[in-house]
Amino acid sequence: MLLKDKVCLITGAGRGIGKAILTRFIEEGAHTIYANTLTNGSLDSFCKNYNNIFPIYFNVSNSYETKNAVLRIRRETGRLDVLVNNAGIVKDELIGMINRDTIEEVFSVNVYGTIELLQAAARLMIKTGGSIINISSIVGVSGGNTGQLVYSGSKGAITALTKTAARELKSKNIRVNAIAPGIIKTDMTASLIDNEKYRLLNNISNTDRIGSPNDVANVCVFLACDLSNYISGQIINVDGATF
Ligand code: NAD
Repeated sequence: MLLKDKVCLITGAGRGIGKAILTRFIEEGAHTIYANTLTNGSLDSFCKNYNNIFPIYFNVSNSYETKNAVLRIRRETGRLDVLVNNAGIVKDELIGMINRDTIEEVFSVNVYGTIELLQAAARLMIKTGGSIINISSIVGVSGGNTGQLVYSGSKGAITALTKTAARELKSKNIRVNAIAPGIIKTDMTASLIDNEKYRLLNNISNTDRIGSPNDVANVCVFLACDLSNYISGQIINVDGATF
């Protein structure tokens, strides 16, 4: 019951890493969870099994919708203890082929969405403190592969802004950390894993397996709960010691 008093908002909780975070937060007894995803109605049947888990549908790249989502949480609970900025998209294009629309789309979700939610959440956390967890990527720490200029740039922005936010918000007792997953088996990476499993496994030195969404969710539980209350401004790689 590591999260028993916590009111939490998780973005991109409809599948993959976000769904694993949602499931682990439920297992750890979170007080209230707002589970976000894009598609209206898609989390309704999952959430109706619980009386403290609420679907909240909005596009993280839409300023108006993100503001409204946080206002709803303020209205209904009066507080927010944990924000997980997990929603993200990937679009790979080679240098020379990258167009402005791709840059704007990826940065709108991965970076602008994270900044705007972080800001709105920080306002709500200001009296009681809280924990903000941004999902970056190892490509945002050590650079990406061919075709990942835009995606790695967006995740690099997340690692930098996490550290800056941690400094600015420390006097308010708001901790800001990021998780940088390596390759994790989800819908986002399914075709990459199918096509390049052995090359990927070769790069992972600690284990003989591709990472699972739960590997990330477990670290998320740690950063969300009070066991980590002396930790802020950190980027934690969850990558099976990939290099
Ligand atoms: P996924 O594509 O399986 O799931 C992403 C979720 O985010 C989906 O539920 C989707 O509906 C939601 N989403 C997408 N755009 C949204 C928007 N604009 N507003 C609200 N929700 C939106 O992806 P995943 O593999 O679970 O990745 C989750 C996060 O982890 C992403 O930020 C991703 O960049 C990051 N990451 C993933 C891996 C990996 O190997 N899978 C590695 C490093 C980092």
